Amino acid sequence: MLSSSSTAVKNLPLKRRLCFLLKLLCFVSSVLIFCEFLIYYVVILQCRWPNVKGGAHMTEKETSASVLKAIILADTHLLGEIKGHWLDKLRREWQMERSFQTALWLLQPDIVFILGDVFDEGKWSSPQAWADDVRRFWKMFRHSAFTELVVIAGNHDIGFHYEMTTYKVNRFEKVFNFTSGKLITRKGINFVLVNSVAMEGDGCAVCRTSEAKLVALSHKLNCSQQKPSHSNKRCSDVEKLPVSEPILLQHYPLYRKSDAECTGEDSAPPEEKNIPFKEKYDVLSQEASQKLLWWFQPRLILSGHTHSACEVLHAGKIPEISVPSFSWRNRNNPSFIMGSITTTEFSLQKCFLPFESRVFTIYCAAGALLVILVLAHVQLLTPPFYFAQRLISKHKAV
Ligand SMILES: [Zn+2]
Repeated sequence: MLSSSSTAVKNLPLKRRLCFLLKLLCFVSSVLIFCEFLIYYVVILQCRWPNVKGGAHMTEKETSASVLKAIILADTHLLGEIKGHWLDKLRREWQMERSFQTALWLLQPDIVFILGDVFDEGKWSSPQAWADDVRRFWKMFRHSAFTELVVIAGNHDIGFHYEMTTYKVNRFEKVFNFTSGKLITRKGINFVLVNSVAMEGDGCAVCRTSEAKLVALSHKLNCSQQKPSHSNKRCSDVEKLPVSEPILLQHYPLYRKSDAECTGEDSAPPEEKNIPFKEKYDVLSQEASQKLLWWFQPRLILSGHTHSACEVLHAGKIPEISVPSFSWRNRNNPSFIMGSITTTEFSLQKCFLPFESRVFTIYCAAGALLVILVLAHVQLLTPPFYFAQRLISKHKAV
């Protein structure tokens, strides 16, 4: 049977064989283009900016003047030179680059926040490895002047607290123009950036500087929120900031016991949900969390680090959103958050990226179809003469 098939293939006119090969090539390239390029457009095209309270009645001009369109993502973990296979690195970076570039093109955000652990090995990388990681980061997350990119430090960027050195913090701050206690005000909305790794509370040099900046900023923000009639002496010569209540952006989540209360398809898997969190490792300490809440009285907290989704309410009124990882290395279903934010309101919406399992299913189905096509082609193109001859010889044998 095998020899008759190969004879049949050999006997095919060269033109028909080339034509068939060309069709196969078209099929393979279409599948590749869809799975590696178009799928990001198909999936992200379904994401819509959420409506913010009062925004529905605004004209387009009023909306663009007062509603800030922000994308928030976390834990990209660009692999370094030590851990991870080169193919893993290549694939994950391609997926994140395509997702980010497609999201920018389709959604046109005003600002993008990355909530730390941008790199996987920033905590120990050599100067050359760091430079290479940074170069790849800027290539993947390139953006036009229309969109601003703000990056926050995570434990994989500068090390866990006891690995964190001034050198590592400085090189991160230099590349990303990040400092703990930095205020970013856009369209009157106040965002406070926090280096949560420096919230250990042990009085280390980096922690002291960071806390001092946070305290000074909280003083300015609190003074700005006081009504003129309540002006007190401590606020008399303080620089006035927009009155909007701040939004905290940090890597570690505020203290919570575990992810047991978290719901949703991208919350932690059931076997991990009840594992108690370690303070200063999985989440901030209770003391540091209280401090941040007291200092800023934020209206929203956005954090990363856990790689899974969660919504928590602190003190019964302050919501915190744990943003899941943006990398397929950490999740089958990565996502980012789309936020429509004004000085008083905000509305958030999650945008899921293509599920990796679905991409694999498409590849497997295409592979199976390819095999069937080749086999069918070989059989179908067996010249009728040989086919009839085989039928007759079989009949004779019976
Ligand atoms: Zn982390």
